[in-house]
Amino acid sequence: MSSVTAPTTPRSPQRPPVRSASVVTPVFNEEDNIETLASRVFAAVGQLPGVALQLIFVNDGSSDRSAERLNALAAENPAVTVLHLSRNFGHQNAVSAGIAYATGDVVCLIDADLQDPPELLPDMIRRIDAGYDIVYGMRIARAGESRIKLVTARAFYRLIRALSNVDIPADTGDFRVMRRHVAHVLCQMPEKHRFVRGMVAWTGFASKPYPYKREARHSGHTKYPMIKMVRFALNAIFSFSTVPLRVSNVLGLALTGGSVLGIAYIVALDLFFGRYIPGVSATLLAVLLLGGVQLVSIGILGEYVGRIFEQVKDRPLYVIADVRGAPAAAPPHLSSSVTTRTPVTAGAHTAPPPSEP
Ligand code: UDP
Ligand code: MG
Repeated sequence: MSSVTAPTTPRSPQRPPVRSASVVTPVFNEEDNIETLASRVFAAVGQLPGVALQLIFVNDGSSDRSAERLNALAAENPAVTVLHLSRNFGHQNAVSAGIAYATGDVVCLIDADLQDPPELLPDMIRRIDAGYDIVYGMRIARAGESRIKLVTARAFYRLIRALSNVDIPADTGDFRVMRRHVAHVLCQMPEKHRFVRGMVAWTGFASKPYPYKREARHSGHTKYPMIKMVRFALNAIFSFSTVPLRVSNVLGLALTGGSVLGIAYIVALDLFFGRYIPGVSATLLAVLLLGGVQLVSIGILGEYVGRIFEQVKDRPLYVIADVRGAPAAAPPHLSSSVTTRTPVTAGAHTAPPPSEP
C-alpha cells in the first residue's frame, strides 16, 4: 500500500527557534540506567546554547529501586520531573503521560535503556530548527538484539505499512523529537490503544528520518518478551488498519465461489457421466474448513468490538499517583491536583495540554 522508504514531507512553514526541550523517558524497572541516562541527557541537550531542558521520567509501576532513584534525582535537580503512575499502564501510555506534561518547544522521546544515544538529540533538535516538525530516529543497525527480534521487528514494520493507509515509517521506534504542536495533537487524540509512532505519522506534519545505529541495552533486560511483542504488533495493526475485517469478506467470497464451482462439477458428473463421488471425508473437511474460517472471522471481529468496548468505557489512559520535582510541568487541566505532592491524577487527554507561550 505504501513504499518502504521513509517519507520526507516538505519542510514546515517558518517556526520560532527552539528555546526549550522536554525529554520524556518511560521507566519500567530500569534502576541501573536512570543516573547514566540523566547525566548523558544533561551533557548532550543541557549543553545546547539557549535551550532550557526539562527531563520527565514516567515511572510505569516499577517494582525495583527505580522509584527511589528517580526521586533522589528529582530532589537534587530542578530540571527533573518524575511522574509515578499508580501501576504498570504499559509503555505507550507511559509515553503519553510524559508528553502531556511536557512544556518544551520540542518534546523528545527516548527509552531509558540507552539503546537510543542521547548524544544524537542536539543534532535532531537542530534539524527541527532547520524546518521540520518531527525528526524521527530510523534504525540502520541494531546491536545486542536477538536474531528473532530483528526478523520479527522487520516483518512487523513491513506488515503494518502494507496494511495501514497511514504512512508509518519502517524501522523506527519512539525515539524522536517533535515540535510542541505535534505533541498537542497527540494529546487531543483520545484513543485508548495507543501506537504513538503511528499516531505521530498520522498527524501529517513535516517529518524527517534521522538514521542512527541502535546500541545494546546499557543494563537490565528487555520489557518486551515475545508475547508482549506480539500483543504490541496486533495492537498496532488493529488500531491502524481495517484490512483484517475485510479478510473475512475475501475468504467468504472465495470459499463461496469455490463451493459453487465444486457443486456444479459434482452435479455435472452425476447428470452427464453417471458418476457419484463418495464424499464423507471431503464433506467433513469442508465443514471443518468453514468452521475454522468462521471462528477466525468472529475472532477478528471480536478484536475490533473489544476495542470499541474499551474506547466507550472511556477510562483514563493512566493514573498518576505522585509527582516529584518541578510542579510547573503540570498541564493546566491537571495543575490543581499536582500542586500537592501526592495527587491522584487521571490522564484522559480530553483537555488541551499547555498552550504555546
Ligand atoms: N517500558 C515501560 N512500560 C512497560 C514496558 C516498557 O515504560 O510496560 C519502558 C522501558 O523501561 C523502556 C522503554 O519502555 O524505557 C522500552 O522498553 P524496552 O527497552 O524493554 O523495549 P525494547 O527496546 O526491548 O523493544
Ligand atoms: Mg530497549
